[in-house]
Amino acid sequence: MNNTGVRDVDVVVIGAGQAGLAGAHHLRRTGFEAERDFVVLDHAPRPGGAWQFRWPSLTYGKVHGMHALPGLELTGADPARPSSEVIAEYFDTYERTFDLRVRRPVDVRAVRDGEAGRLLVETSAGTWSTRALINATGTWDRPFWPRYPGQETFRGRQLHTAQYPGPEAFAGQRVVVVGGGASGTQHLLEIAPHATATTWVTRRPPVFREGPFDQEAGRGAVALVEERVRQGLPPRSVVSVTGLSLNDAIRQGIADGVLDRLPMFDRITPDGVEWDDGRHVDADVILWATGFRAALDHLAPLRLREPGGGIRVDGTRVVADPRIHLVGYGPSASTIGANRAGRTAVRDIRRLLAEEPLAA
Ligand SMILES: Cc1cc2nc3c(=O)[nH]c(=O)nc-3n(C[C@H](O)[C@H](O)[C@H](O)COP(=O)(O)OP(=O)(O)OC[C@H]3O[C@@H](n4cnc5c(N)ncnc54)[C@H](O)[C@@H]3O)c2cc1C
Repeated sequence: MNNTGVRDVDVVVIGAGQAGLAGAHHLRRTGFEAERDFVVLDHAPRPGGAWQFRWPSLTYGKVHGMHALPGLELTGADPARPSSEVIAEYFDTYERTFDLRVRRPVDVRAVRDGEAGRLLVETSAGTWSTRALINATGTWDRPFWPRYPGQETFRGRQLHTAQYPGPEAFAGQRVVVVGGGASGTQHLLEIAPHATATTWVTRRPPVFREGPFDQEAGRGAVALVEERVRQGLPPRSVVSVTGLSLNDAIRQGIADGVLDRLPMFDRITPDGVEWDDGRHVDADVILWATGFRAALDHLAPLRLREPGGGIRVDGTRVVADPRIHLVGYGPSASTIGANRAGRTAVRDIRRLLAEEPLAA
């Protein structure tokens, strides 16, 4: 700690989800020590990253390919248990096994330029001065709500996937689900047996993908998102490039008419939703399964955004500021992608720190 109360480290990791823990692991593996050389900050109350907040009916068996963190397998988990519990316990064990010493709850409020080429990380628990930053703040904290005319007049309840309580809460209600991603289809399939009626609306017709999502398809999808962030455009959702996997539950939903999609409505009325062609659907609830955006507001003082609205990233390195790595962003926004990105970021940061010995 220097005499201004600011603590000096080589690397600050913001976020202790899959991406932040993978980054912290690679720092440890290559000789950095927690609390001396790097610090991991997370504003959630417990281990688990965003998984700790996911709804109880999202059981471990229902997640589509959760990749283990580097260096410790997740074995023997009961597929019927909520993924929020299974993954939180696994992350907790992981943090202890590798002595990552995550500080929580610590909210990072702003990152600014400091002196001597350092970055200042301002938090609810004081300020750290660092030579490099791994930003792994995910998307859960920034649910995206589109705006539609009349939205504020709706007398029923509106909620986002981020607040989805599980299907029982919709018993006897007429529910409109907005959004063509994996969350929207899962919500519909769960809610339909409990609700009086469900309606599915999406902006674009959903694309169902036959056959398994193999490695080649995965690489293709990642390459498309990668190209966007390389150009400084905001990353697109994974489903927009992969399509929805046509599994048995989805097939059944299509056959039952639960996944019979309507185009986006034109306005919201006090008692439902309405289209310009005169169609009206009564609703008690509008559930916005409209995705998330990267939670990067704390980086705003650094002015990293490009005219295209995104942050230009090469690998994980921010092109405008090579001290900063975005891990779990864009093409690495999956559990497997976050693992790889954590390794890439640490490799680059080690090179950067070796090239630029600490200024006095
Ligand atoms: C419903 C749902 C299901 C999914 N299922 C899968 C799946 O099956 N397989 C898969 O590969 N991917 C899945 N994903 C994507 C998945 O979220 C990512 O793959 C991965 O878990 C994200 O990890 P992360 O570390 O980037 O983010 P997170 O897990 O969101 O971690 C970010 C952390 O940063 C912290 N944080 C944020 N802002 C700040 C701040 N300002 N200060 C301090 N701390 C901060 C948060 O508290 C959080 O702990 C799913 C996503 C959703 C929404």
